Amino acid sequence: MPADLHIHTCFSDSTLSPGAVVEEACRQGLSTIAITDHDTTDGISEASYWGEQSGLSIIPGVELSTNTFKREVHILGYFIDLNSEVLQTHLRVFRETRYKRAQKIVEKLAKLGQRISFERIKELSGRGCIGRLHVATVMCEAEIVDSKAEAFQYIGQHGPCYVPKHHISPAQAIRIILDAGGIPVLAHPYTLNYDEIIPQLVSEGLMGLEVYHTEHPPAIEKHYCHLAQKYGLLITGGSDCHGMGKGRIMIGERVVSDEMVNRLRNADCGLRNKLESGVRRQEAGVTCILTPDP
Ligand SMILES: [Zn+2]
Ligand SMILES: [Zn+2]
Repeated sequence: MPADLHIHTCFSDSTLSPGAVVEEACRQGLSTIAITDHDTTDGISEASYWGEQSGLSIIPGVELSTNTFKREVHILGYFIDLNSEVLQTHLRVFRETRYKRAQKIVEKLAKLGQRISFERIKELSGRGCIGRLHVATVMCEAEIVDSKAEAFQYIGQHGPCYVPKHHISPAQAIRIILDAGGIPVLAHPYTLNYDEIIPQLVSEGLMGLEVYHTEHPPAIEKHYCHLAQKYGLLITGGSDCHGMGKGRIMIGERVVSDEMVNRLRNADCGLRNKLESGVRRQEAGVTCILTPDP
């Protein structure tokens, strides 16, 4: 039975609740899914509850946003310990800085005479993290702009009301995930278009590569399969479903076999054993890699 290892919920930027994600995964005949929300693990307990009710296995995951001086890099973490202090401290700081960032944007807009309600932004973000998309939506509602694209002329990187994001490096994200007993995996490398970074990330403890992804053409998947073998990385894959946020429900469109899930699970057991026996975290991540699928 196949597994979709990259799914978002409304706790980050999907339109689907964890319960709706589980329902759709069952409809697609999946055995396992991973919940990998952007910079939060808050949707996992709800997904696990519904997973238990319906016999679907839920892997606790996360997708951490990081930056290099060149571009944004996403690092997935699988089988993370939700109680990890290091991970939860990072996520809390990240959430707080997003909140403050939105407040600063509202202040900058007000200085330009464009007043919008911060309360409405909070209301729109619901149980998830506040993002610029919420600010743009409220700007449209207040008829300051005609479209979200126009809103980004104010709040986008080159706009007068831009406020920079809180940054961590990919190496820091890898360390946070290893520290939480999880397997760090580079997300959608094709959309990143930055293969040169892979050997460096491997030396920093990266353990897997997301070879299968809805935005990866088949020839590209072969290329990344080859790279995974070259660097001795685990292979993962998933739909990266955002509910209707990307136009359609994609759960189950990209899957991996149970065999690959087992390899991931075994690698995680190996990692945890090494951590318990006192091996340095970064070393443990590098040395417990298993052979990838042929
Ligand atoms: Zn991503
Ligand atoms: Zn994603």
